[in-house]
Amino acid sequence: TPRVFSGVQPSGGLTLGNYLGAVRRFVAMQDEFPETLYCMVDLHAITVWQDPAELRLRTRQLAAFYIAAGLNPEKAILFNQSAVPEHAQLAWVFNCVARIGWMNRMTQFKDKAGKNAEKASLGLYAYPSLMAADILIYHATHVPVGDDQKQHVELTRDIAAKFNHDYGVDFFPMTDPVIEGEATRVMSLRDGTKKMSKSDPSDASRINMSDDADTIAKKIRKAKTDPEPLPSELEGLKDRPEARNLVNIYAALSNRTAEDVIAEMGGKQFGEFKPLLADLAVEILSPITGEMNRLMDDVSEIDRVLGRGALRARAIAEPVLKQTYEIVGFLQP
Ligand code: ATP
Ligand code: MG
Repeated sequence: TPRVFSGVQPSGGLTLGNYLGAVRRFVAMQDEFPETLYCMVDLHAITVWQDPAELRLRTRQLAAFYIAAGLNPEKAILFNQSAVPEHAQLAWVFNCVARIGWMNRMTQFKDKAGKNAEKASLGLYAYPSLMAADILIYHATHVPVGDDQKQHVELTRDIAAKFNHDYGVDFFPMTDPVIEGEATRVMSLRDGTKKMSKSDPSDASRINMSDDADTIAKKIRKAKTDPEPLPSELEGLKDRPEARNLVNIYAALSNRTAEDVIAEMGGKQFGEFKPLLADLAVEILSPITGEMNRLMDDVSEIDRVLGRGALRARAIAEPVLKQTYEIVGFLQP
């Protein structure tokens, strides 16, 4: 049976990249699939330092964002990862299935650890193994993610296949990443070759879901571009990463293809295109921001949603962990 799982880290303010690349897809899939689970992956967040009070606040803000963006907690299962201990328990088993060489190939670790990888946490290194457990503890078949997570979902398949092979079972399914739309990789507003990230030190590099209309307009006005006008064909954006990025964002926000946008906007200078993009971004984002703020006024409702979500998630995860332990040969007195 098809089942959807995905997550976002409560590791910082949420970005337009998180919305277009992930959460908007989550919302669409809650209606297309019988069962969807969307997690606030707090265990992943602490792979880099998080202030405890901030982490708690951001976990609730992320839940508010999910709901404000259109997730229905009666339908989708919304919960935070640490409230379902089976994730971490299965991750340990996967740590013993995955190979060190596999982890060494992960580009996210290289990007995040930087030059001084010796100083990175062991958790950051093992991150993909925990992510495999997040997915496979629910036997999830579909994982909507941004393009940057493709490699991790592929590793999840490798882990599932090796587990099945080593133990001679057909237990874990092969998961498909769902990477769709015109904004699977929203780039930094300051550097068209870098992914927009909530953990980028430069606030000007991203649009935050908490930014007000003026801030959004200002960041788009100041976004890096080249001096040429928009081309009249998609081909013309080939070596213009910053221009390509703004066109992709416009396309995703207006639910059109980049090709359509170029057909309409080709020939325009950025001085004309940027205000149109800013207006569109504000139109789409400000109702979500407003609803997020409203939900954060009384967090007791969010906490109730998360409490119930964790119970529903555990009801699926518990038997899968039990069967895994059985397969592995753990005595379960
Ligand atoms: P961090 O910098 O802390 O890793 P992040 O912005 O990358 O934060 P994550 O919580 O790691 O956010 O990712 C949550 C989801 O959002 C993932 O599916 C990821 O692929 C997607 N995502 C993140 N950034 C982008 C982006 N720039 N474009 C499209 N999707 C993105
Ligand atoms: Mg990330």
